[in-house]
Amino acid sequence: MFDPFTGETIVDGACRTPSAAVRLGLEPPRFCTQCGRRMIVQVAPDGWWARCSRHGTVDSFAIEQR
Ligand SMILES: [Zn+2]
Repeated sequence: MFDPFTGETIVDGACRTPSAAVRLGLEPPRFCTQCGRRMIVQVAPDGWWARCSRHGTVDSFAIEQR
């Protein structure tokens, strides 16, 4: 696993507490959590999406539906 905002490797027990904006799904991730690659991020007035060239797209709509 990689930190979606810094791209650093997440070690067990070392996971950071995300900011309020992150928990609410307002801030898009910048790195893929599966491979640590920098993703292409697009922010729109009604949400955002981020795309990894290997692992596909993550978007704010999917998070809101949880
Ligand atoms: Zn990836």
